[in-house]
Amino acid sequence: MKAVVFEKFGETPTIQTVPDPEPASEGVVIKVEATGLCRSDWHGWMGHDDGISLPHVPGHELAGVVVAAGSQVTRWKVGERVTVPFAVGCGHCFECSSGNHQVCEHQSQPGFTAWGSFAEYVAIDHADTNLVRLPDEMEFATAASLGCRFVTSFRAIVDQGRVTPGEWVAVHGCGGVGLSAIMIASAMGANVIAIDLTDEKLDFASKIGAVATINASKTPNVVKAVKQITNGGAHMSMDALGHPTTSFNSIANLRRRGRHVQVGLMLGDHARPQIPMDKVIAFELEIRGSHGMQAYRYQAMMEMIRNGKLKPELLVGKRISLDEAPAALMAMGTFEGIGIGVVTRF
Ligand SMILES: [Zn+2]
Ligand SMILES: [Zn+2]
Repeated sequence: MKAVVFEKFGETPTIQTVPDPEPASEGVVIKVEATGLCRSDWHGWMGHDDGISLPHVPGHELAGVVVAAGSQVTRWKVGERVTVPFAVGCGHCFECSSGNHQVCEHQSQPGFTAWGSFAEYVAIDHADTNLVRLPDEMEFATAASLGCRFVTSFRAIVDQGRVTPGEWVAVHGCGGVGLSAIMIASAMGANVIAIDLTDEKLDFASKIGAVATINASKTPNVVKAVKQITNGGAHMSMDALGHPTTSFNSIANLRRRGRHVQVGLMLGDHARPQIPMDKVIAFELEIRGSHGMQAYRYQAMMEMIRNGKLKPELLVGKRISLDEAPAALMAMGTFEGIGIGVVTRF
């Protein structure tokens, strides 16, 4: 099969012909019809993720058709249209047994712990636990755009953030995660404030549901601005970017008993940011992480998509070919435009 391969971290990936994958006994092989480009792929390529061994095929936001199934697979057949969350649970450990596959102790991540979906085919293990059937009307590009940023935001807003109608929600950073969160929180009936450094992204945030915006490059004190708009602070706030400043602001702009959810990755020098712990105690603030979403929770999100309350297709950006993927991957470190880039031609 054709695949995007890198043999050294930070060196230009190339298109190569590599052996087709075989399904594990509990796994399937999927013919990839669409695969999203994500900043996590860039981190992986740069060598920031110690789970990767070389040579490597990146790609973790995928949708396609099952073309082979292992002997132990009972729920899936060849020809079914599917997607998969980026954190694939083993289905057997304590966390998986308790329904928390997103933090499985033995999780695999296509494109990180194993070869990913920047290829014509990808192998996914533990298919019965992890695959999600696509509604007939959903295109592959939209389905691929769900697997990482959109489902992570759904879990962050709905399950971890427990947003209820009428609450104020602040979303720090309007990349793929942030825009998804704004759309989801707005659909949940919250009043959403979008915070970013560019007017272009903030204008788009307003179009998909934000009721107020703050341009942090022109606002000296973001925390104060959020408190003014919300008359005392946000009920729930999220750092969608993953930076010490946005993380701090997201906690500091909460009202009493507010909830902060950290979704943006904090890697390298940013892994141990400052936290206003005095305020966490005095205001009884909650701080939670959010890491992907279990396959079985997709159903609630899919119903909201089917009924038009969520429109993930609005967040799909440029469509490119696999041949264009190496250049697009390398560019993810410096620039993230509006919308999720998706490879749709292989
Ligand atoms: Zn991703
Ligand atoms: Zn597990």
